[in-house]
Amino acid sequence: MLIERDGMHSREALAGYDRAAMSRGVVVVVGLGAAGCNIVQTTALSGVGEVRLVDHDVVEASNVTRSPLFRRDRLVPGRDRYKVREAALAVLALSTASGPRVRFATQRVEALGPGAFRGASVVISAVDSMETRAYLADVTRELRVPLVEVGFMGHEGHISVFPNASDEEACWRCLNPRTMHGRLSCRTYALAVVARGMIPATQPLAATFSGLAAEAAIGALHGRFELPGKLFGLDIRTGRSHVVEITRDPRCPGSHARTEAEVLVPVSAKQPLAALFEAVRPWAPEPLVHLPAEYVVSAPCVACGNDVSLQRPAWALSEAPRCRRGCATRPMLGGRGAVVVTTVRPGDELAARPCLSLGIAPGALVLVEDPVHRTSRVVQLQGDLDDLYVLRTRENTRDGEATVASDSADGPSRAEGSPT
Ligand SMILES: [Zn+2]
Ligand SMILES: [Zn+2]
Repeated sequence: MLIERDGMHSREALAGYDRAAMSRGVVVVVGLGAAGCNIVQTTALSGVGEVRLVDHDVVEASNVTRSPLFRRDRLVPGRDRYKVREAALAVLALSTASGPRVRFATQRVEALGPGAFRGASVVISAVDSMETRAYLADVTRELRVPLVEVGFMGHEGHISVFPNASDEEACWRCLNPRTMHGRLSCRTYALAVVARGMIPATQPLAATFSGLAAEAAIGALHGRFELPGKLFGLDIRTGRSHVVEITRDPRCPGSHARTEAEVLVPVSAKQPLAALFEAVRPWAPEPLVHLPAEYVVSAPCVACGNDVSLQRPAWALSEAPRCRRGCATRPMLGGRGAVVVTTVRPGDELAARPCLSLGIAPGALVLVEDPVHRTSRVVQLQGDLDDLYVLRTRENTRDGEATVASDSADGPSRAEGSPT
C-alpha cells in the first residue's frame, strides 16, 4: 500500500483505503437530494477520482438545510440552477483526488440509458421514485455493476448493498419488505409509503446514512462488500437497528440474467430508428426492434375520456401534458384505451423518429429480433460518455464559477411557504 509523503490521505491509508483504487474509482450517484449530496461530499473528501451525478431537478430553498453542496447565498429568485451543476462545482472545490473528474447529466437517468454506467465501479441509488429504483436495480444487475441503495422512512434510514456479481444473487426487486409491511409487491409497497405520508430526510438522517452508503461504495472500489445482499436499517432517534438478509425470490420480476451487446452498430441515437433497421438488415431482413421502455403514444383523459397525445417513453410521464380540453387532470395510463408500443418494425410510423425520442439513448443496448430466422441479438448504438454527461475538471472550470458570490441579497427569503 502506498502512503503519500504529504500525508493528506495518511489517515485513510491506515483505515485500509488504497490510493490507487480510490483514484481509479468511478462512482455514479443518481439523485442529488439530501442523501446524494451528503454522499458526494464524503466521496469527494475521501479522494474518489471520478463521480458522475445524475438529477434533472433544480435547487430549491428547502434543499439547502440538508444538502451541504448547495449554498444558501447562491439561491437567486427567478434563476434556477440544476442540482448537479451546483454539486459538480462543490465537488471540484472539495475533492482531495489529484485530478478529480466530475461528469453530470441534467436528464432522468432512464433517458441516459445503460451507457451512463460504462466504466462505473459502483452506482449509488439515492432517489425517491420506486420506479427509478427498480430501473437502477435492473440496469446495474444486467451490467454487473455493484449497487448501493439508500432510502428513508420517518426517522429510519436504510442502506442495501447488491454486489451484482452473479445471476443467483438477490436483487432489489427480490427484496421482501415483510419486516416493515408484510409481503407486498413493489407497487403496493410504493403506494403504502406514499399513503403513510413521507417525512423528508433531515440533515442528521441524511448525514448518518450517507456515511454508511459512502463507506459501502468505497468498499466496492476495493472489491470489498461487508453487507452483500443485506439491508441495514437504523432509527436515528431510538438507535434500534436491524440487518435483513435479502433472499432471492424465484418469481422475481427483475432481470437476473446478464445482457451483453453482441454487435456494435454504426448508428447514433440522433438518427431515426430506420437507420438501425438498415444496419441490421444483412442478418435480419425483417427486424423487430424492442424499445428499452414502453413508449406511450396516447392515453385517455381521466376526466373527459378524450385521447391525449403523449408520445414519450413511460418513464417520462410524470411530466405528461394535461388534457387539451383543459380538464384539471392528467391522462390515465395503464387503463383501457392507452396506446402503448413496445416493438417497432420497418414501415411503422415510429421508425421515422429519432432513436432519442423513442427512449433509445447514445450507447443504448437494443434487442433486435429476426422473426424470419428466429434469432435475436442485442446491438449497441454508438455513443460515448461525452454524449451523456458534461465533464468538469479543475482545468475546464473557471475559478470564479466555483466561488461566485451571491448576486442577490434576498435569495433565501424565497424559502417561506415553499414546499419541502
Ligand atoms: Zn430479483
Ligand atoms: Zn379531459
